[in-house]
Amino acid sequence: MPRDAGPKTPAAVLFDMDGTLVDSEKLWTIALDDYAAHRGGALSEPTREQMVGSNMNRSMGLLLTDLGLPDGDAEVAAAAQWVAGRMAELFAEGLPWRPGAAEALREAKRLGLRTALVTSTIRSLTERALETIGRENFDVTVCGDEVDGRNKPDPEPYLKAARLLGVDPADCVAVEDSPTGVASAEAAGCAVIAIPCEVALEAGPHRTLYGALTEVDLAALGELFADAA
Ligand SMILES: [Mg+2]
Repeated sequence: MPRDAGPKTPAAVLFDMDGTLVDSEKLWTIALDDYAAHRGGALSEPTREQMVGSNMNRSMGLLLTDLGLPDGDAEVAAAAQWVAGRMAELFAEGLPWRPGAAEALREAKRLGLRTALVTSTIRSLTERALETIGRENFDVTVCGDEVDGRNKPDPEPYLKAARLLGVDPADCVAVEDSPTGVASAEAAGCAVIAIPCEVALEAGPHRTLYGALTEVDLAALGELFADAA
């Protein structure tokens, strides 16, 4: 049932990380390609696309299957450890911001908006990324290994962020770049700002498509709720 009237300003803005705030999907591609080469294979483009916005265990299962290798729990865990190690090296070399992302985080603070980071990336790697994107920019952070396996596209990551903030997810705006992430945020009931990075996104009733964060006016986010009502 549509709401009669949404909030004038969102209760919080919930940011995805990879592909939304930082251009890390390209770094993931490097780490995944390196792992495939290390195992004597090559990752196919369709399988790489399926991994965008996904979590580590699912991605490692897809990767091993794509390479024609065993994908049991132990093999997935070993691949995850290798790729996480490579990602830590790549993150340490510096994370490139997506256009307008650093400015959007500053603007959110200036406007007094509450913020969360809602990422499928594991906590240990996210902590490295936070050294670039700034811990102080987020009131709460939710990582891919902190949702009891209920990763995006399940709504749990966004629901958990809202619970931690003590707000109604229906009063929140989520910013996402991937079909998996958009599906998660929509299932949680958030209004979604969708900014495609590596994979194309289609318009939908609870999402507003933009080309870049530079186009988003954070002071006018209340309009997203008016549109959805
Ligand atoms: Mg993403």
